This record gives sequence, C-alpha cells and structure tokens, in this order.
Amino acid sequence: MNLSSLGFFRSLRKDNHQFAVIGLGRFGRAVCSTLHKLGYQVLGTDIDEKRVFDALTDQIVGHALQLDSTEPAALKEAGVFEFDTVIVAIGNYIQESIITTLNMKEGGVPHVVAKASSEVHRKLLLRVGADHVVFPEYEAGCSLARSLTKPSILERFDLDPDHSIVELIVPDEFHGKTISELQLRNRYGLNLLAVSHDGKFQINPYPNQRLERGSAIVVIGCNKDIDRLPI
Ligand code: ATP
Repeated sequence: MNLSSLGFFRSLRKDNHQFAVIGLGRFGRAVCSTLHKLGYQVLGTDIDEKRVFDALTDQIVGHALQLDSTEPAALKEAGVFEFDTVIVAIGNYIQESIITTLNMKEGGVPHVVAKASSEVHRKLLLRVGADHVVFPEYEAGCSLARSLTKPSILERFDLDPDHSIVELIVPDEFHGKTISELQLRNRYGLNLLAVSHDGKFQINPYPNQRLERGSAIVVIGCNKDIDRLPI
C-alpha cells in the first residue's frame, strides 16, 4: 500500500456495510467470501448463471444475481448503483471490465475498485474513473521478489517511490546494542519509530533500550538507506 491508496481507503464510509462484487472468478469470490465472513452484506453478480449458483451454494455472498454488467439498465434494475462501494472483479475481459467501471461511475457509485490484468488495463480503468485499481498478479510478484531477496523485512509501507516505512527483524549486528549506540540517524539516515516487545510494539523507544535478536524494529527513511542496513 502507498499514501495515494491510503487516501482512497480513508475516503470509504465507516458506516458502510454493503458491497457489490461484479464478476465471480477466483478474485471476485475471494473478495466476496472474506467480506461475507467479516459480517458485511455482499451482493455478487456474474453474467454466468453457474457462477452465481456456485456463489450462493458455497454461501460466500448474501445475495447473488445473474446480469450483464455492461448493460446500465440491468445494473440500475438490480440496485447496484445504490451501493457505496462496488468491486469490479473482471480481470480477463478488458472491454467488459472498462465498460462496467464506466457504468458504475456514470451510475453515481462513489467508490469503485477495479481489478487490472495489465499496466494498460490499469491506465484505462483510471481514465474511465476507477477510484482505486488493484493489480494482484503484479503486486504478488513484486512482494514475492522482495521476500526472496530481503526475508528480514516483514512489512513495507511505500510512502512514495523513494521513501518507506519498514518493519524488519533486528539484524544480528544490532543484537545487544542500545538504540543510541547504533546511531541509526547518523550512520544510515533512518529514524527508528518502534521496537517490538513480547509481540507488542513500543512506539518512540528510549535511547538506552537494547535491541534483541529475534525481535523487530520499525524504521522510516529513504529506500537506498534502508537497503544499506545489514540485513
Ligand atoms: P481469475 O478467476 O483467474 O482470478 P478473474 O478473477 O480476473 O480471474 P475473470 O476471468 O476476469 O476473473 O472473470 C471474472 C468473472 O467475470 C467471470 O466469472 C465472468 O463470467 C464474469 N464476467 C465477464 N464478463 C461479464 C459481464 N459482462 N457481466 C458480468 N460478469 C462478467
């Protein structure tokens, strides 16, 4: 996640309990079942009757309808435009995905999340008004590459392309040293935000606190400085 997507998530209404998911492929079904398990009301739709039937049988949605989402009249009749948040989970049919997203925005849906299957698809979705675009295959690939090359980094929050907040396992070199001894700001240009302590994070730790092997720290700074850490 980065700050621009944080803006989108913060714009979502906290009292919204209803979501519509268009497209019941693997991605759409995962969104439906997670929302449903969390107790939200989910309407799932698909052009394919069997997929609608399966979603109802597997109890991953509260309601499901068979409709062609490229048809604005069908969406209106089904009440999809009344939803605060709609997820367009059609990745492999670009034309249908673009038209559906356009229909949602023209129908007045405030928050439209759409799934992209390529970079061009992502750009097109943004052009027709998608409020947030996910590109799961790309994101999963980037995340796997990062985990393979930097297994000590547990979480990463990209502030912009050059700056991040990362949670990482305390490097062996830092074991037994106090925060002031490490001089992270002078040596690496990084600020230490938190240290994990028995599974809980201590924010703004004291300079005389010693870091232990196996615990975690959270730092903020430039990516090139983070890359210089002995991890
Ligand atoms: P995967 O299932 O591989 O994760 P995906 O989630 O991107 O991929 P797609 O293959 O893009 O899924 O298909 C999503 C669903 O969208 C399919 O079940 C398909 O029937 C449905 N769909 C395609 N066109 C329309 C349409 N015009 N209206 C409604 N649903 C549609």
